[in-house]
Amino acid sequence: MFQRILVANRGEIALRIFRACRELGVETVAVYSEADRGAAYLQLADEAYCIGSAKPSESYLRIDRIISAAEIGNVQAIHPGYGFLAENAHFADVCRSCNIEFIGPTTESMRLLGDKNSARQIAKKVGVPVVPGSEGLIRDEAEAVRIAHQIGFPVLIKASAGGGGRGMRLALNDLALKSAFQQAQAEAEAAFGSGEVYIEKYIEHPRHVEVQILADQHGNVVHLWERDCTIQRRHQKLIEESPSPVLRPQVRQAICEAAVRLAKAAGYTNAGTVEFLVDKNQNFYFIEVNARIQVEHPVTEMITGMDLIKAQIRIAAGEPLPFQQEQIQARGAAIECRINAEDPKRNFRPSPGKIEHLIVPGGFGVRFDSHVHAGYTVPPHYDSMIGKLIVHQPTRQEAIACMRRALQELRIEGIPTTIPLHQEILAHTAFMSGDVDTTFVERTWPAEA
Ligand code: ADP
Repeated sequence: MFQRILVANRGEIALRIFRACRELGVETVAVYSEADRGAAYLQLADEAYCIGSAKPSESYLRIDRIISAAEIGNVQAIHPGYGFLAENAHFADVCRSCNIEFIGPTTESMRLLGDKNSARQIAKKVGVPVVPGSEGLIRDEAEAVRIAHQIGFPVLIKASAGGGGRGMRLALNDLALKSAFQQAQAEAEAAFGSGEVYIEKYIEHPRHVEVQILADQHGNVVHLWERDCTIQRRHQKLIEESPSPVLRPQVRQAICEAAVRLAKAAGYTNAGTVEFLVDKNQNFYFIEVNARIQVEHPVTEMITGMDLIKAQIRIAAGEPLPFQQEQIQARGAAIECRINAEDPKRNFRPSPGKIEHLIVPGGFGVRFDSHVHAGYTVPPHYDSMIGKLIVHQPTRQEAIACMRRALQELRIEGIPTTIPLHQEILAHTAFMSGDVDTTFVERTWPAEA
């Protein structure tokens, strides 16, 4: 096992990793930007180094400075969390060439799966259904139009390097397709430094269902069942739950097995998520792999009773998985609400600022993963997610009731948050009956002009 790990991240996920390390008896080294200087969660690391100014490009994305901190801190491994450098294969390469283990998959499988278009090709090879679309990348408008006619409108133009709902454009006809093509290319170029795009058929009224997998370095690959992340806003997840409230048992089995097949084909190791869209007839289509731990991992931890961060660290240290597929039981129902510093009354504009008062809910089956506290100032430079409220109960109905009461108890004063929206969603009959798709939130609570 490692003696010391550096956590190349901030906020709630950095804290989540410090906690797992402490329980494993592993020391931690934190890095922070000037905007995070003095944050209380940093005290829970054994050491902390400032790596630059507030801007991510000057701190959390600075590979050179993170590696320097790792050298000074004398660590054997780096955990990247999610976001920032978590899916940067070059960073993984640099870590390993400095003899520091990167807690994540091999560089080769990151490259294979990180690119959405190449991941699609692997999925096809092993018989995992993909959304109908282009064979590969699209070079120009004419090709886009030709393929759209083959698969039929509506279509989505997607960035190969895309993430976080960016670099994606819907087109309903030829004319819209031409401008969508250019916009998607330009957005992808600006956001990801690569303008490569491909086309997928737009699946109408889909659900988003993803499968958690774990793979060790000895060829063992298992799934830890699915998470349903259909409750989204602008392609960003808001609420995640497990099990999916709708999947038929055979479909559930098939989707989980498909995820394992894909992971095996890509030589995947460590924790990862295989994402699918599910249409109203419960046909499922692979969309992408997230080659890292995800925000919503606690939902899976609650139903399986397995600590995914500890599993990641043990796998990176070379330990074999201590269980087989048959031993991974899903118990009860878990739901997670992402608490964002955003103002639902102002089109979800980020609302950084000082948290004056905070009351954290508790009680049976309630978990709050967050680095914030009363008196904490949410900096304006980073993702607006400030915490995750998670509940676990024997049934979905009880989980909903538990989440509603936990949301009532949770008080964050000083800045607007997404708590009121969660309360409305949890009380909505469509959510309760599971009769929703990925456009439910936007249709039910339309953005103001
Ligand atoms: P990102 O990497 O930016 O998160 P994904 O490919 O994971 O992008 O897609 C994010 C979300 O966008 C999905 O959960 C779904 O809501 C929507 N989406 C993606 N592809 C399609 C599609 N072909 N048809 C309909 N919706 C889609």
